[in-house]
Amino acid sequence: MNKRTITFCLLLLGLLASVTVAQSTAITVIKAGRLVDPETGTAAANQVIIIEGERIRAVGANLAIPAGANIIDLSKLTVLPGLVDSHTHMAITYKEQPENNYYYLTYVMDSTPLRAIQAASNGIQLLNAGFTVIRDVGNNGMYADTALRQAIEQGWLPGPTVIPSGIIIGGTGGQFWPTPEMYKRHNIVYPEYIDANSHDEIVRAVRENMLFGARTIKLCIDCKPWGYSVEDIKLAISEAAKGGCKVEGHVQTPEGAQRAIDAGIYIIGHGNALTPEHHRQMAEKGIFLAGTDTPFTKYRGSEAAFKRTVEKLRSAWEKKVPLTFSTDFDYWNERMKDEKTGEWLSRGDLTIAFLDTWKAAGIPPTDILRAITINGYKAADIIKERGPIKPGLFADLIAVAGDPLTDIDALRNVQFVMKNGMVFKKDGVMTPEKFFHPGPVRMPNGRYTR
Ligand SMILES: [Zn+2]
Repeated sequence: MNKRTITFCLLLLGLLASVTVAQSTAITVIKAGRLVDPETGTAAANQVIIIEGERIRAVGANLAIPAGANIIDLSKLTVLPGLVDSHTHMAITYKEQPENNYYYLTYVMDSTPLRAIQAASNGIQLLNAGFTVIRDVGNNGMYADTALRQAIEQGWLPGPTVIPSGIIIGGTGGQFWPTPEMYKRHNIVYPEYIDANSHDEIVRAVRENMLFGARTIKLCIDCKPWGYSVEDIKLAISEAAKGGCKVEGHVQTPEGAQRAIDAGIYIIGHGNALTPEHHRQMAEKGIFLAGTDTPFTKYRGSEAAFKRTVEKLRSAWEKKVPLTFSTDFDYWNERMKDEKTGEWLSRGDLTIAFLDTWKAAGIPPTDILRAITINGYKAADIIKERGPIKPGLFADLIAVAGDPLTDIDALRNVQFVMKNGMVFKKDGVMTPEKFFHPGPVRMPNGRYTR
């Protein structure tokens, strides 16, 4: 190669480098009227957030605004980190008709591809309501949850960051009670559950889920009387840790709760079976609670069940359990309409309505805000990469009118949503064009990324 060619090549490289830099350093500046820090439960006035590409570069009061920056004026709004539903199900929707709310039938009648498309729609609806992260913990057919995560990550469509569990792991039967012929001849339990009884089977099941893209592992602790022992749960925890996954245990009995606590599980799903003594131990060990605290509404629940749920949530809060906001949402019926307008409620509206339970439990807005943000990022095990509005982290944030630190219902009306530095919603209207591509814009090199 002669000198002129080398010079030319260097020039070309320089040019390419400058083009790459110019593309990746698009600067966006957000002027926030108020910026909430849910960790401390405080807000600072007139803050500037500088975003470089997908990530936050700087946050402060008197930052110099870079020349040529795209400026977004949210000076009349309160800016805060995106919300988290720490226990939901994106790819199953059981209904009163035709299945009488019996999800065995949903599983038989709705294909995994159909459920995956439902999940994609649910993701858009949740992002519209300000949910930038969700933990999706099973009952998603044949890995519709990990596919949704991949599709969003690759840039096919907008949606929250999905922390998928893959298929729920349980002892024989999972949460089903099938007939012998459906179980033995038709393997009806799979793919809603992986039967894993022996230690070898537990290891295999955890590895399979991680191979197919799980970012968390979900165990049925006590779905059956032959539920998992402390040793079984410990084995699942240590195997999951090899793939960087934390474990959530579905718990429905006091004995199951105690075994999960003794094994040092990361998250307990469902709060109904927990006693104040469990709450005390969970607080001591720092075990997260995804209580799935269903409110009583005209479309769901009963007053008696609501009263119990409120009491349990109150007790957990009093004992200082690390609480997350969680819904267990996986159903739909024709009464899910706005009482005033008569219009359908979106999946986002239905999810944020769970605030009713937290308010009924008398939990202060600052603690609810921490549960629906910071504790959610911790439970999802992503707090080092996204969530808090801090330099270096992904630019995920939302804005609302009013002050969620004193009135948590401000979260019901999200005006602005940014995900990965891109505007998804502005002035209360979805503007998702930039999220749609005719191909993947971010390739994980042919494998599931971690
Ligand atoms: Zn659930």
